[in-house]
Amino acid sequence: MPELPEVESVRRTLAPRLVGWVVSQVRIGLAKLARPSPQALTQGIRGQKVQNIGRHGKLLILELAQGGFWTIHLGMTGQLIMANERPRAGHVHITVSFADHGPRLYYRDLRQFGGMTYCPDQEALDSGPLANMGPDALGLERNLFISRLAGRRAPLKSLLLDQRVLAGVGNIYADEALHRAGLHPTSRPAELSAKQLADLHRHLQETLTEALARGGSSVRNFVDAEGRPGTFQHAHRVYRRTGLPCPACGSPVQRIVLAGRSTHFCPHCQG
Ligand SMILES: [Zn+2]
Repeated sequence: MPELPEVESVRRTLAPRLVGWVVSQVRIGLAKLARPSPQALTQGIRGQKVQNIGRHGKLLILELAQGGFWTIHLGMTGQLIMANERPRAGHVHITVSFADHGPRLYYRDLRQFGGMTYCPDQEALDSGPLANMGPDALGLERNLFISRLAGRRAPLKSLLLDQRVLAGVGNIYADEALHRAGLHPTSRPAELSAKQLADLHRHLQETLTEALARGGSSVRNFVDAEGRPGTFQHAHRVYRRTGLPCPACGSPVQRIVLAGRSTHFCPHCQG
């Protein structure tokens, strides 16, 4: 699933093109990917100029000049491709055309867990796509990070994945940050010191920043809006490296299932 660094990579490749463009046509092939309905999405964004492209967690938020927001979530396998021609690979479910500009925005989604939403105002955004979402993980201030975890009794990995605690971290960056911090995924914040949580904060920020500098991780089918894959997967230390040597100590990386998700860690470094 695209996480914060991947979605931010898409935002950074989309913004130089789309900001200032006016939506002229919306074609929706799969109704469930358009919310609140295909008609409401089409009517909400058609004729509107894209004023700014922001992001919160894994959600892209396009501000529209006459008010309202157009949000895009990539779900498990969503891709946004800016191109002059429809991508040959299938699963293109939404096509957006723009006035006076040739390239179109194509939304592909194999597993169909993502989609687009039109929100007429800030309240609809806050109570809809942003409902129950914690602060964005990138650049999150250290004391705020610590206060959201301190004293909690759930496994650390589960808390990092919980978008209500902080938004944007998924399976890849939770596993990678916990390895760098030397913390076991099942350890509980209530049993950790403030220094350990501060270290985790620093390692999480470093992991997200390094991933972003390398265009994110392409572990499934991730590409940015120009169709380029990321390269941070080559720098992963534990994620999907079960049985391979830990780059810090050489012990084989282990895999467990935690909260229904594959979790990779080094039993020696994160003991
Ligand atoms: Zn190790």
